[in-house]
Amino acid sequence: MEFRKEVRSTEILSPLIQFESEVQSIEYREDPLTGSQCRINVARAVRVRQVQQAGVEVREVIERTASGCSFCPQNISQRTPKFPPILLPEGRIERGECLLFPNLYPFAEYHAVATLTGRHFLELDEFTTQMLVDNLMASKDFIALVQQKDEKAVYPMWIWNHLPSSGASIIHPHVQITVDRTPTPELGKLIGKSEEYWRQRRMNYWQELIEVERGIGERYVGENDSVAVIASFAPRGNNEVQVIFKGPVNLIDLDERQIRDFSSVIVKILYCYKGMGVNSFNLITYSAPLMERPDYFWMSARIISRPVFQPFYTSDAGFMERFYDVWVIETLPEEVAREMRTTF
Ligand SMILES: [Zn+2]
Repeated sequence: MEFRKEVRSTEILSPLIQFESEVQSIEYREDPLTGSQCRINVARAVRVRQVQQAGVEVREVIERTASGCSFCPQNISQRTPKFPPILLPEGRIERGECLLFPNLYPFAEYHAVATLTGRHFLELDEFTTQMLVDNLMASKDFIALVQQKDEKAVYPMWIWNHLPSSGASIIHPHVQITVDRTPTPELGKLIGKSEEYWRQRRMNYWQELIEVERGIGERYVGENDSVAVIASFAPRGNNEVQVIFKGPVNLIDLDERQIRDFSSVIVKILYCYKGMGVNSFNLITYSAPLMERPDYFWMSARIISRPVFQPFYTSDAGFMERFYDVWVIETLPEEVAREMRTTF
């Protein structure tokens, strides 16, 4: 396993100190499995963003959206759709605070939404392990139902966007669950590259990644019986952390104990994010196809922070991310791991 990185320095004339120059270093890094490229310049974190100096209160947005919210307990049973009886006679899946129902505006063949809590808004340190366990168990039930009805739909995703700067259109905490016949290109690449790695080295890449990172220690955050947590060497977003399952390859194979272990580390990561000043994030899962148990692939999840949600903010996805598939990052993975380790 090779962690490829190259540091290039740029000397720039500082406008503040005329005639004096400042040196900034840019780390060009490549993902050890896929070669996906990112460029890290931690100096970008402190650069002046004109619109972010406004600092308008976000509480106002939360309160304004609460009264008419379709996901709040007083509205949810009237305003959310139901699955057809052929898929699910009850129409929706309920478990704890979670209610799972169809997405009104789907972008997948099977596309559900599942709430995490009855409360309209939670700070990142207010989510509990039980909320996530209930949500994931309900999601697993949904995936199993789809699988029974349509054996070609084998690629499940469990996705969580939190607050509008992450792409979420509804403030109320919720996840999305999709099941499709084909993998997304990135998942297809991960599965393909994992197989290639297995063929060439007779090693499961994910198992080796955990062992190597545990040995190096720099990006290793912690682990429990079911999952290991590592700050990605070449992240696709700021403060990126990956949660790698030790053995399970897809969402449907997780038992309640593994779901609980996974949920407890997510709760810890969110707690750390809160301490780092983050309020918005994307969390995604990479799952192998249902019914397949490849030796070369272990399921994982990734989480990245998104711009702090406030009425006006600067997006972190510019031309490099949208058009060139290069991720411009302002947080150093080794620093992210060091900060999170204290909580694990
Ligand atoms: Zn709500």
